[in-house]
Amino acid sequence: MNSTIETVPSTTRVRTAASDSDVLERLREIVGAEYVFVDANKVEPYGQDAIKEKFPPEAVVLPRAAAEIAEVLRLANERCFPVTARGGGVGYTGGAVPLEGGIVIGTERMNQIKQINVDDLYVVTEPGVTTYELQQAVEAEGLFYPPDPASYKDSFIGGNIAENAGGMRCAKYGVTKHYVLGLEVVTPTGTIIKTGGRTTKNVVGFDLSSLMCGSEGMLGIITEATLRLVPLPEATATVRATFRSMREACACVPQLTRSRIVPVACEVLDRNSLRAVEAEFGFGLGPQADALLLVAVDGSAQEVERTTKIVEQVVKDGGGFDVLRATTRADEDRLWDVRRLLSPSIKKYGTLKLNEDVVVPRSRVPDLIERVEEIARRHNTFVVNFGHAGDGNIHVNFMCDREDRAAVERAWQAVRETFAAAVDLGGTISGEHGIGYVKAPYLDMALSSEAIYVMKNIKHALDPKGILNPGKVFT
Ligand SMILES: Cc1cc2nc3c(=O)[nH]c(=O)nc-3n(C[C@H](O)[C@H](O)[C@H](O)COP(=O)(O)OP(=O)(O)OC[C@H]3O[C@@H](n4cnc5c(N)ncnc54)[C@H](O)[C@@H]3O)c2cc1C
Repeated sequence: MNSTIETVPSTTRVRTAASDSDVLERLREIVGAEYVFVDANKVEPYGQDAIKEKFPPEAVVLPRAAAEIAEVLRLANERCFPVTARGGGVGYTGGAVPLEGGIVIGTERMNQIKQINVDDLYVVTEPGVTTYELQQAVEAEGLFYPPDPASYKDSFIGGNIAENAGGMRCAKYGVTKHYVLGLEVVTPTGTIIKTGGRTTKNVVGFDLSSLMCGSEGMLGIITEATLRLVPLPEATATVRATFRSMREACACVPQLTRSRIVPVACEVLDRNSLRAVEAEFGFGLGPQADALLLVAVDGSAQEVERTTKIVEQVVKDGGGFDVLRATTRADEDRLWDVRRLLSPSIKKYGTLKLNEDVVVPRSRVPDLIERVEEIARRHNTFVVNFGHAGDGNIHVNFMCDREDRAAVERAWQAVRETFAAAVDLGGTISGEHGIGYVKAPYLDMALSSEAIYVMKNIKHALDPKGILNPGKVFT
């Protein structure tokens, strides 16, 4: 091991003091008494996210402004209690969960869209606006905010930035960080800073906006975001096809590139996904369908007409059958239902779903799927694979009975080996869900100790007392 990496500054252990009466009194003075909760029934919902493990905070604080958050963080540093920021609370890795107690800062009162600038293509928003609300507001102005996590109706823009959220449209449009022009952030020690600005080009100083993207609520609390927009595409279309194997379906993806098509979305579903969704909803997918590909394109009406034909040809040449095309929103929705209704359908395979989101270079997706299937067979566990073939980000879901301890252990072993396979294929252990505390034990499978050392030093420089979201990312 490199000797320089043994000298990460130690973080002062936070002491849990948020429930002291004088601390609560100060919090009430800062945000108003009606916005500080301590009752168990009110704080409990703030103690879990989508993975449903419970770590209730001692208090919940709902500020309205950056200045209030700055004061709360200064108090937290003075009295040494942990603070965890929360958006919509639908993260998949426990990021918003107050693992070491203390207070949760909920951002739901910071829910105003401040400005939509059509000429300069940006929106200025507070962090507590949901992804869906933001998309709807800009679309009403003929503009488009592409990042689209499937949780878009519940997730907040602040949470999206902190997790650098992706979604189905990343294949063409990229992830959340590609839309962040500037931020207002309260640092862990309670200073309000502005990063970036309102222009696409900006190379003044270090790129602190990018540093905040994916920082999992550990380097500061985002209180305002300026997000880049693009014109709303005139038309969209979707092509759906079934295949006899995942390898055949995935082979169409590089073929689309060779045909000079960049699909908006390119989603693949495996055999177990199809059996589940067919049994539940009866889409008429035949027994010979062992994989399914959904490809969406957008652009001008003329362009979409042209590209849709090319997509149809590519999937047919690649062995696709039952090829369907949809060009109206309603018809497209019907084709996408098979993907949208998948998550509820696979619940029948087990009461516990270990939902991982590994990513590999997209040409390696078929290799990843084969390795995961082999891992599942070897550990006698059941796996469902689906996801974003267009960018190589595959949701690998190991399903088992929550009460069967041996089965749960086997599934976790399969998860570890899946992470190793993804790294071995040139990818990594998370494409969009982040690390939180759930994946923290696996961080060193994906990052060198030197890189982890640099990250820990950045954290220490900004948060010397380790009060902001302790227990996450680093074990
Ligand atoms: C059904 C379902 C589907 C999903 N689909 C996708 C998908 O397609 N793509 C994808 O990328 N993810 C997906 N996710 C995961 C998740 O929704 C995203 O990570 C989302 O960005 C979380 O947003 P949130 O507002 O719920 O954040 P939270 O869960 O509340 O918080 C997540 C992290 O962000 C931090 N945070 C929250 N607000 C702030 C702030 N203002 N400043 C600083 N830090 C903050 C928290 O401390 C925490 O570390 C899905 C989740 C579910 C349950």
